[in-house]
Amino acid sequence: MPTKPRRIRNTDWVKDYNFLITPKPQKDELLSSWLTRTAFAHGMSLNQFISLYIRHEGCAMSRTDIDFQYNPKLLNLIAKKSKIELKIIERLSLRSEEGYLFTCSDCLYPPSQIRKLIDKRTHFGLMYCPKCLKEDKHPYFRKEWRYLFYNACPKHKIYLQDRCGVCYENIKFRKMPVKNKIIFCHKCKRDLRLTTSKKVSNEYKKGLEAIKWFQDGLKNGYFFIGDDKVNSLVVFKIYTHIRYLINRQKNIKLDSFPMLYKYKVLCKKLQHYNSKKCGPIYKDYFLTIIVYHLFLDYPNNLQRFAHDNNLTHRDFVHGFKDIPFWYENKIDNIILIQNTIGREISESEIRGVINYLKRLSKKITQESVAEIIGCHSTINKGFVRAYKKLLNNITI
Ligand SMILES: [Zn+2]
Ligand SMILES: [Zn+2]
Repeated sequence: MPTKPRRIRNTDWVKDYNFLITPKPQKDELLSSWLTRTAFAHGMSLNQFISLYIRHEGCAMSRTDIDFQYNPKLLNLIAKKSKIELKIIERLSLRSEEGYLFTCSDCLYPPSQIRKLIDKRTHFGLMYCPKCLKEDKHPYFRKEWRYLFYNACPKHKIYLQDRCGVCYENIKFRKMPVKNKIIFCHKCKRDLRLTTSKKVSNEYKKGLEAIKWFQDGLKNGYFFIGDDKVNSLVVFKIYTHIRYLINRQKNIKLDSFPMLYKYKVLCKKLQHYNSKKCGPIYKDYFLTIIVYHLFLDYPNNLQRFAHDNNLTHRDFVHGFKDIPFWYENKIDNIILIQNTIGREISESEIRGVINYLKRLSKKITQESVAEIIGCHSTINKGFVRAYKKLLNNITI
């Protein structure tokens, strides 16, 4: 006998049941954190709760990045079923920072300003401060803990953690054991509040100042840089690009930055990456301080950084999507003049450098001479012309 075909559901969404209990969402809470608290209040895991109350395919949904995905239907349904205002539910989604922290058009994965949930090259995306969790009456996970610039807790002055302190597993709400609080490791069941985290020493406390600066700018929607009031989105776009420039620099030069040596030591250590250690978190912490440093004493630090590292105008604008007018305008003033047109470089200056290199028995090349003069070896036309002319006239 032929079997009766299974009825095909015309919708995946569950229409009937409202939530029975709804814990109050915290102002800075992640949607996934609040949904997990709501699930636990129903005595269910996140998967079971989503399947029963939100979507039949609960498991598939809880495996996605609920905090980042753009899904107005989901948010509407949650607002309706929880009887909480839609704008409060929307605020829990990382999408509420769109236009302030990042932009994205139909992007499937979070842009660089937000950590992806799993990125094996760096560290796990969902981080936490054990002390914040400990102080909470109803522990919850903050939105800020997913921001790229946020690697330490300014309140408790400790680095954030991205995994369980005992078994090193990352934090997975969908697998977390159902308890009255969302604080247990899904693998070994240890209380995450007991995870020890390194204190930020006095030497590195500038990083906390940097985090606070970015945090306040995001909250206000603008930053003050030099004499300008700059939209926060512009600053975060620049943050991402400059961070990339610093990160790719093999032997970064930045005399005005006192922690540079420590940063370089750390980068060396990270070449022998050990996934169980916090190195990548410290590196992100450092990168945030360096970008902050470059915004300070504007435009001097930024200008010196470009000059000392032979960065060209192209380095600062290439690959920058929808380049903000403010940035382009500033970079034109700061970098273009410095590195490409630059001051007049005379033949006698080049001759002086060549003699100097000879005295030290160092190799004389277009690059080595340009490095000492402080200009770009191929882009600075004046230099290239004068160098070639000299080369034809003298025997090196
Ligand atoms: Zn904290
Ligand atoms: Zn564990």
